[in-house]
Amino acid sequence: MKKNIVILATGGTISGTAACGTEMLTYTSAVLTIDTLISQMPYIQNLANVTGEQIAQVDSSDMSHEIWLMLAKRINELLLSDRVDGVVVTHGTDTMEETAYFLNLVIKSEKPVVIVGAMRPANAISADGPMNLYNAVALAMNEEAHGKGVLVTLNDTINSSRDVTKTNTALQDTFKSPDLGYLGYIQDGGSHFYRFPTRKHTIQTEFDITELSELPQVEIIYSYVNSSVSIVKSLSNLGVQGLVYAGLGNGGMSEEVKAALGDCAKTGTVIVRSSRAGSGIVTRNGAVNDDNYNFVAADSLNPQKARVLLMLALTKTKESQKIQRMFWEY
Ligand code: ASP
Repeated sequence: MKKNIVILATGGTISGTAACGTEMLTYTSAVLTIDTLISQMPYIQNLANVTGEQIAQVDSSDMSHEIWLMLAKRINELLLSDRVDGVVVTHGTDTMEETAYFLNLVIKSEKPVVIVGAMRPANAISADGPMNLYNAVALAMNEEAHGKGVLVTLNDTINSSRDVTKTNTALQDTFKSPDLGYLGYIQDGGSHFYRFPTRKHTIQTEFDITELSELPQVEIIYSYVNSSVSIVKSLSNLGVQGLVYAGLGNGGMSEEVKAALGDCAKTGTVIVRSSRAGSGIVTRNGAVNDDNYNFVAADSLNPQKARVLLMLALTKTKESQKIQRMFWEY
C-alpha cells in the first residue's frame, strides 16, 4: 500500500522563478506554491500519496522563530496521525541547516522528516528542485529513514541535520557533513544508508515546544584579528540571554575578548565557544579554561547550530554545566 507523505512548504529557490531559464543566480525565491510544484511533478504520486500545505512563502534569509515554531507544531500534529507516514519540508538552502537542526531537537516522532531545497530556480535549465523533491519523498516513505532524526537531502545525498552545512554559494553539490560524511545516497527512488546519527534527537530530547511562543535571544559574535570587544559589551548591555562566540581554531579568543565574555558570564549570560574553522571539536578547557570562565564548549556544532541548541537549552536552564551536558548529548 502506498504511504501518505505531506509536504510542508516554506519557500526558497525550489519554489523560485527567474526571468529566463539561463539565469541561475538572479531570480526571485519563493514564488510557486506547493500545489503548483506537486502538480508539475506527476512522478511523485507514483511513489506515495502526496499532499501539500503552504506553511510560509519566504526566502530562507527571512526564516524566523515564529515560522519555526508554527512548522514544528504542525509536523508534530501531523505525525501523531496514523494517516501520515512521513513529512517533507521544502526550504531555502541558505538557512536550511538551522531549521533542520531545530526540528531535529523538537520533533516528537520517529517517523521520517526530510528537508529539501534546490540551488536552481524552478524554471531554470536543468533545475535540480524536481529531482530533489522526488528524492525527498522517496526518503520520507522509506522504513530505513525511521528513527534517524531529521534528514536533509539535495543532490542525491542523505545528510544528518546535526552535521550538514552549506559549503558553496552556488553549486548543486553544496551540502556536506564536513569530515563525518553523508549518511547515504538516493538512487532511482531507493535510499541507501551507510551510517546513522549517534547523537540524541527527536523523541530522545528534553525539549518541548508545545507551549512556546518565542525563543530566548541568543546572538553570534565572529572572531578575527584585533577583535573588538565593543560588540560583546553592547550585546551584554542589551540583556541577551546567550552568546555564541565563533572563535579561532579550537574556539580560541584574545585576552581582551576572554575578559569581556567572562564579565558577561558573571552577569548571567551563557557563553558558548564554537569555532570559525568549519569542522572539528571545540575541546572543553582546551584553548580556553572554560571551568574558570564558566563557559560552555560547543563540541562539533558550527556557530549557527550552537545558537539553535543554546536557545532551546535556555528554555530549560541557565546553568552552564547543565547546558554543557546538552552540548555533549545533542
Ligand atoms: N536564497 C535562497 C533561500 O535560501 C537560496 C536557496 O533556496 O537556495 O531561500
